Amino acid sequence: MARPLIADIDLDALRHNYRLAGDLAPNSRAVAVLKADGYGHGAVACARALLDLAPAFAVACIEEAVTLREAGIRTPIVLLEGIFEASELHQVEALGLWMAVHSDWQVDALLDYRPRLPIPVWVKVDSGMHRLGFAPERLEAVWQRLKAAPGKACDLHLMSHFATADLDDRGYFTQQMARLGVLADRLGAPLCLANSPATLARPEAHGAWNRPGVMLYGSDPLETATPQSARLAPVMTLRSQIIAVRELGAGECVGYGGRFRTSRSTRIGVVACGYGDGYDRHAVDGTPVLVEGMRAGLAGKVSMDMMTVDITDIPEAGIGSDVVLWGRATNGEVLSVDEVARYCDTISYTLLTGVLPRVPRRYHHGQG
Ligand SMILES: *Cc1c(COP(=O)(O)O)cnc(C)c1O
Repeated sequence: MARPLIADIDLDALRHNYRLAGDLAPNSRAVAVLKADGYGHGAVACARALLDLAPAFAVACIEEAVTLREAGIRTPIVLLEGIFEASELHQVEALGLWMAVHSDWQVDALLDYRPRLPIPVWVKVDSGMHRLGFAPERLEAVWQRLKAAPGKACDLHLMSHFATADLDDRGYFTQQMARLGVLADRLGAPLCLANSPATLARPEAHGAWNRPGVMLYGSDPLETATPQSARLAPVMTLRSQIIAVRELGAGECVGYGGRFRTSRSTRIGVVACGYGDGYDRHAVDGTPVLVEGMRAGLAGKVSMDMMTVDITDIPEAGIGSDVVLWGRATNGEVLSVDEVARYCDTISYTLLTGVLPRVPRRYHHGQG
């Protein structure tokens, strides 16, 4: 028997979530963000599953775009950070990519390059994230430079990114929107602003394009869920099995450092999944897992290849029992990756992108 740990990827759930992004923004088109290997789900498989729905994909860099093109994906692909060096421009053109432009040197490189066909360019303005983009007061000059490019070499969109669209407190989001509103009016440009939380809950940010990422994979990024975000379906189920059981009396220690100490007669299930698979070692005792579709708690520090869970209250559990680390159990019970992330003092993004290559991905449509 093979090691039972696998990441089950439900491509119908991915399509469902993509459709939800579209339903919530009926006047926008949605770029499906597939960076970081589709947030750990496999970018090529996710792209193929979305081919008939998504008019464009987005990745972080040209290497990720090449992977999709080599797999035969012909859909437009946006480079969210643009090029990292000028020499990439011939590939941008040859592969039919779109690109963000966030720095003067990228503008210079584009204007020097002179593509044969206009390259769709998403000019990034820093409306408050203070990471990438031109300062708002400089944007118009950059815009006019690109617009005046010989042979109308660039097809311009205005792009920006929100720092706090996920938070209940709308104060800073509203400031960013106000800055963007002024620029949008002045330039009359097609807009691309919304990430997942803005796609889900900030309709005023919906533009010609939106850029949903993590929501496509079924994670709810909002501080407070809404009826819409509650419709997201988990795409990845990280599943394994119990490979051994220990029966312990009260007062025994479990695992490295003896972090977990039994307070009663306790059954401990040993699960084949550890930080060597990408499961977060910061998980505290009590971090939920599903055993036979029922909730149990982590008991003791996560090891490299294994973890230990308290199955005292699930008497039917034993060697071979199904364990879901996050996702959907066969009885339909869901343990969201967002909830697990809270127990690890992190966010779903790091858990999903952190699943390591040694965990086989298994793709399917629908349940089972
Ligand atoms: C990753 C990314 C997104 C998607 O963000 P989510 O929070 O996953 O929806 C959107 N825009 C840019 C520029 C990004 O880098």
